[in-house]
Amino acid sequence: MSSSPADLVRAFHLAVGLDARSTPTEVSPELAAQRGKLLAEEAAEVAEVSVGGPLDQLAHELADVVYVAYGTALVHGIDLDAVIAEIHRSNMTKLGPDGRVARREDGKVLKGEHYEAPDVSGVLRRQGWSPYGE
Ligand SMILES: [Mg+2]
Repeated sequence: MSSSPADLVRAFHLAVGLDARSTPTEVSPELAAQRGKLLAEEAAEVAEVSVGGPLDQLAHELADVVYVAYGTALVHGIDLDAVIAEIHRSNMTKLGPDGRVARREDGKVLKGEHYEAPDVSGVLRRQGWSPYGE
């Protein structure tokens, strides 16, 4: 079995009886809120240890965020790997043809003239999502 985060988290959800969907689906508001709260809690734990560490705790909390994010995607039937690939494709268009990037004074990478926004809706549609009852 592959040890990608998506596969590991799916195995966990199936083992403990958590939801696991294979097509992008709007879930009940209660379930959606529960998943959002879990992720917010884990993100807050990252913030707590971001500056002061220790490094092993930061690593732990970062992994928790990714694990819960993959779990939340799975609950909603979203193939998160495909979404990440689309975000990456878009981010790489921030590079100019000369391979350089424009940066703000604080170092943030700016969107250049060749930038293409990610088409997350298109990714979900290819996974079988029909928004708004289309
Ligand atoms: Mg945690």
